[in-house]
Amino acid sequence: MKHTLIERAKVVGKTKFGSQINLRPNKSILPAALTPANAFANKADNQLILTDKFGRNFPYLRLSITDICNFSCDYCLPNGYLAPNHNGMAKPKFLSLNEIDNLVTAFAQLGTHKIRLTGGEPTLRRDFTDIVKTISSHQAITKLAFTTNGYKLKQNIHKWRAAGINAINVSIDSLNAERFYKLTGHDRLNDILAGIDTAFDAGFEQVKVNAVLLKDVNDIELDLFLAWVKNTPINVRFIELMQTGDNQNYFDKFHVSAADLRDKLLNQGWQIKPTSADAGPAQLLVHADYVGSIGIIAPYSKDFCTNCNRLRITSKGDLRLCLFGEQGLSIRHLLQHADQLDELKQLILGQLAFKKSSHFLAMGDTGATANLSTIGG
Ligand code: SAM
Ligand code: SF4
Repeated sequence: MKHTLIERAKVVGKTKFGSQINLRPNKSILPAALTPANAFANKADNQLILTDKFGRNFPYLRLSITDICNFSCDYCLPNGYLAPNHNGMAKPKFLSLNEIDNLVTAFAQLGTHKIRLTGGEPTLRRDFTDIVKTISSHQAITKLAFTTNGYKLKQNIHKWRAAGINAINVSIDSLNAERFYKLTGHDRLNDILAGIDTAFDAGFEQVKVNAVLLKDVNDIELDLFLAWVKNTPINVRFIELMQTGDNQNYFDKFHVSAADLRDKLLNQGWQIKPTSADAGPAQLLVHADYVGSIGIIAPYSKDFCTNCNRLRITSKGDLRLCLFGEQGLSIRHLLQHADQLDELKQLILGQLAFKKSSHFLAMGDTGATANLSTIGG
């Protein structure tokens, strides 16, 4: 029997897992004349979307490809990357190109259209360009981004763009070279800023910059960031420092509310620009006198999880439904061969039933996350 998309979704969701997970067409992208029922027959014009029991859609996957990092940011890896002790056992390897290809095939068939590569420092992988080429060869993946500390951006961004990268986030916590050095262990601010210029030369129309808000460290640099945004198409995203398993003392000392910063900007004439429900938890602020924009990421604010639109895969192949609060489930055994595809999709669908409404961070529940280098932020 042939099912319509909605009927099929019920079959997928109920027979195997008894969950409310469904695959449903994203109505907003269907031409007006198409109903969900005939959209299934018209594959060229429909798009599947993973949806959870709270009605949230998940078109976005954050894929960590390594835990290793060459920087030592104070709030993340203050002592740099330390390889875990495996007591003489073989070291677990990060996902291979073939495993990544099989993973992306499954997620693309479940409606994912945006992937962000992260880490650790993703560009430290020698096969980074091949990973980008492999993922971008999947037609369904229309947005392929990466988050980087900017190391080697200048030398490689043309090559990475040609391979398929079409969006960049660069992490810069301070625009003061000395402070940047102190925070990251690398005296590279000017080099990284030159890398961003090179990205514009290479054809990127916008670059996102992540800055973790730190009390009395960079919250005093707001004017510097605003001066940068004034004439440059940069979206500076101020991220509220998150407490992880490793950074309790640091958090207590340097945490400052991103909501307060947002209110300050609103008082200076910035306005919140409405975004689509699927746009994720960042709030976007714009100002008529500024070419660039500001993003506010306030994970402790009460509605932060309402617009969650992403799932995560760790560098060793664990599916993480949330940045915080759970161990994740290994799906790596199903990434080995192309003929495991159906089983893999069923496992992902089944797991989504366990996604909670919120991360409960405000209650100090940092879960399994020792630091964000292990999962990608
Ligand atoms: N190494 C890359 C980088 O720094 O851009 C990618 C990985 S890093 C874990 C991703 C993002 O998470 C960075 O923008 C970083 O500043 C942010 N981050 C790391 N630890 C954080 C924390 N405890 N709270 C908030 N953001 C954090
Ligand atoms: Fe490395 Fe990124 Fe963590 Fe800094 S935030 S230590 S660059 S993984």
